[in-house]
Amino acid sequence: MTTLQIPGVETVHPRATWEPNGDPAQYGAWYANKVGDLRRDSAFHRRPPAIDMSRVEYLAVHWTSAINLPDGDPEEILAGDDGIRQLLARSTTDYLTNRTSGGYTRLADGKVFPGYPLGYNWPIDYLGAAWESGGFDYRDGATAGWNASVLSVLLLIDRADAATDEQWRTVREIAREANRRGARITPDRIWSHGWFRERTGIGTSTQCCGDVIEAQLLAGAADFIAHPDTPPDPIEPPEELMKHVKAGPFVMRMQGCNAVVYFDGAAARPVTPAEAKTSEMRPAVDHVIAHPMPFHAETASWLEAQGIDLART
Ligand SMILES: [Zn+2]
Repeated sequence: MTTLQIPGVETVHPRATWEPNGDPAQYGAWYANKVGDLRRDSAFHRRPPAIDMSRVEYLAVHWTSAINLPDGDPEEILAGDDGIRQLLARSTTDYLTNRTSGGYTRLADGKVFPGYPLGYNWPIDYLGAAWESGGFDYRDGATAGWNASVLSVLLLIDRADAATDEQWRTVREIAREANRRGARITPDRIWSHGWFRERTGIGTSTQCCGDVIEAQLLAGAADFIAHPDTPPDPIEPPEELMKHVKAGPFVMRMQGCNAVVYFDGAAARPVTPAEAKTSEMRPAVDHVIAHPMPFHAETASWLEAQGIDLART
């Protein structure tokens, strides 16, 4: 199983980490008994419709309209990641139980749910973490009339508040990732939920996602072309490499392959093989041939981040 990643998004919570699974260890015995297993990948006689990325041309922005979400305020009812997990779990129950035009039969007990799993593709918390709901797997279920051509995000922020810079950045990174996966979202097609009806006559008439967030959208907060979004901070050199800094020239050979890196420890920089074979690095080069110093994946990825092409070294 590969880890779900969205480049530029530091924290991604897979739905397996929050969807109610019927295990008392997850949300307690009372909840497990009352709610049971609601995992959309496995609990029901069918899965929700799969997303067809080639049809996705819009990104829809939603709010919850709630006034006390876990968004960093003091004395919250639900707080932190646990609070968000519970909030999403409760919303999932609500969507399945209190909505119609779905219809999911649970395999374990034959219980029929008239609704459908939580409709949004990606809830995003105030720190910018992305919570996978439908993710990139299932069609949006939150933007009536548009679900097949929309990927939806839900901004988890109190209704009076503006979305945070971290949230907007994650919105942009999700749009970019959707496009890498075959969608054709453009910055001028990132719309408030309510704008679909207002601008086209099709869809639900709704206050969602509120005047404050709409003003941010109109000011270009989601424009993923205007905001290049700098790559994450460079990672520190790994310890196995730092041991040798100030130790003068040295050479490393990557374990399991022939890549050899010539590194000037005193200057903390890699040097070319040609440089290494002249002057004072020569003894180190000779030494590594006799005594290769292995290095590992962590150092390899750091070197690659510095622009060292290990395949050619
Ligand atoms: Zn909405």
